[in-house]
Amino acid sequence: MKFNSRVPSGPIETRWGNHRFEMKLVNPANKRKYDIIVIGSGLAGASAAATLGELGYNVKCYCFQDSARRAHSIAAQGGINAAKNYQNDGDSIYRLFYDTIKGGDFRSRESNVYRLAEISLNIIDQCVAQGVPFAREYGGLLANRSFGGAQVSRTFYARGQTGQQLLLGAYQALQRQVAAGRVEMFTRTEMLDLVIVNGHARGIVVRDLVTGEIHSVAAHALVLATGGYSNVFFLSTNAKGCNVTATWRAHKRGAAFANPCFTQIHPTCIPQAGEYQSKLTLMSESLRNDGRIWVPKKAGDSRRPKDIPEEDRDYYLERIYPSFGNLTPRDVASRRAKEAVDEGRGVGENRGGVCLDFRDAIQRLGQSVITERYGNLFDMYQQITGENPYEIPMRIYPAPHYTMGGLWVDYNLMSTIPGLHVIGEANFSDHGANRLGASALMQGLADGYFVLPYTIADYLARTDRTPVRTDHPAFKQTEQEVRERVQRLLNVNGTRSVDSFHRELGKLLWNQCGMARNASGLQDALAKIPEMREQFWNDLQVSGAGEEFNQELEKAGRVADFFEFAELMCRDALDREESCGGHFREEHQTEEGEAKRDDENFAHVSAWEFTGVGHEPVLHKKPLEFEYVNLTQRSYK
Ligand SMILES: Cc1cc2nc3c(=O)[nH]c(=O)nc-3n(C[C@H](O)[C@H](O)[C@H](O)COP(=O)(O)OP(=O)(O)OC[C@H]3O[C@@H](n4cnc5c(N)ncnc54)[C@H](O)[C@@H]3O)c2cc1C
Repeated sequence: MKFNSRVPSGPIETRWGNHRFEMKLVNPANKRKYDIIVIGSGLAGASAAATLGELGYNVKCYCFQDSARRAHSIAAQGGINAAKNYQNDGDSIYRLFYDTIKGGDFRSRESNVYRLAEISLNIIDQCVAQGVPFAREYGGLLANRSFGGAQVSRTFYARGQTGQQLLLGAYQALQRQVAAGRVEMFTRTEMLDLVIVNGHARGIVVRDLVTGEIHSVAAHALVLATGGYSNVFFLSTNAKGCNVTATWRAHKRGAAFANPCFTQIHPTCIPQAGEYQSKLTLMSESLRNDGRIWVPKKAGDSRRPKDIPEEDRDYYLERIYPSFGNLTPRDVASRRAKEAVDEGRGVGENRGGVCLDFRDAIQRLGQSVITERYGNLFDMYQQITGENPYEIPMRIYPAPHYTMGGLWVDYNLMSTIPGLHVIGEANFSDHGANRLGASALMQGLADGYFVLPYTIADYLARTDRTPVRTDHPAFKQTEQEVRERVQRLLNVNGTRSVDSFHRELGKLLWNQCGMARNASGLQDALAKIPEMREQFWNDLQVSGAGEEFNQELEKAGRVADFFEFAELMCRDALDREESCGGHFREEHQTEEGEAKRDDENFAHVSAWEFTGVGHEPVLHKKPLEFEYVNLTQRSYK
């Protein structure tokens, strides 16, 4: 497996500019001679497909939803970061860069993160030009609020629907290209494999989810924008359809998977209410701007939160981290919530939550201001819990939310398979071991609007323009393998539903590779996962047929991939003998219970090479170099 990170040298603020100049261009008249496949129509995929279409390439864009507009990005609530410094509160590109590197616990590439901070400015301009209705101040400038891990206000937002509004912007840009004939959109179509010809990614095999028809599509270059894999935990804040299939199948064809154990647990989710729940709901981090997090001081306090007086409350984040208070980053806030609940100081059913309380903010600002800022989130909370958060503190608890791990990419966002580019949450690139809030939307749009359109041209300009046809033996072979796999799922004819297996796997991962991990739990999980996988393949029941709309079959394919992927995740967590960001190994913590990194041995990206299901993968350690930021113990005190 070949790695070339292509990270440019020179002063950090000149790297992206110089790199853009040094990359090759495709002549405008030649662009229409190239076919590009974009898989995914979330913020990353839609922005990339629209931009590539506008540039003149022939683009085919795929998603499994019934509309590009329903990609999971639509769920994003709180906001998008950018170093515009409209607040004049000390922000700068360098500060956003620094906060992001520190927030990721010094496990990301400096050059990529600097570029991200730099491009953040363009993203806001582009979205405003599209008409995205960001909140505004009285004077007309765009408003900002704060998110975790920052002491400045740099988060742009559209109430609690930022993802939806940004996606509408990207979607209209995409639809414009669809109307212009530059982009063809294929909804309800799932990529089930990647086709490699002469060592380059040259196509995909897809299944039409309505008719069940399986066929191949060829192109000169591919872009995976297929989102994250938090649903490996079964319960997560992600949309039910989110999965690892596209990236996992690419991994099996030769794309290295980087840092699969780096998963983010978000501190402010509605606690699980029952065993048969199928999904968890996020309460945006933006709520921590005004909500105060607390638990009773005494374990076992059975009074209703509302009746617990001030002197018996422990505002533990404000107490432990006076500088950042309720806006400590997600990994830290999640661990402290777990600690309080484990001590028996939780509230609500089974004492399984902590309070997020708006009493003081309502008294200070008035209810109408709170409604204006977070009204839709409050409504959502009330509809789900039946409790009125204007009167009773919200109950929250950490839940799986985002995955920093993903396919390894170079500075040009290309994987270890030439021609296969990976953008948005599907790659590993910018967030290290912990993503700061409001940075995923920034990365997805940076990749799609501003990075990939340059870097893919460089690849195309250097590559063979001869088209391949889908009657090439590599396509026939891959297509055959996909058909056999689908048939194998249908043929098991056992007794258990897909969900029952998925739930069991998720529980194991949550307990043993979730918010806290240790060697013995991970070894146990590594022993159990292959057994569970075998049971899955022996006792699965998928009703219906392959040549029809069959959602059980879709789920079965995705869960089969989760069963293979879960093993890699645990292996990566076991190998990383340190704590950093969301990866908390109980053996490696400071006396105060903070994550304890081992920079001497683990300042690297773990990039894994596939060697076969059930076979030990090969680990490639790609060192991280820090020229601008000092590696220090993260402190938010
Ligand atoms: C509830 C919630 C709130 C959030 N709020 C914020 C926030 O306020 N700010 C922030 O910065 N981040 C937020 N995030 C994170 C952010 O929303 C995501 O990281 C981001 O939207 C991911 O975008 P994406 O384009 O990479 O992937 P997605 O939006 O997940 O899109 C994936 C696309 O790939 C397609 N796809 C996947 N697999 C296949 C396949 N095999 N074949 C065909 N198509 C496929 C899907 O159909 C979809 O179109 C939030 C996340 C959640 C869960």
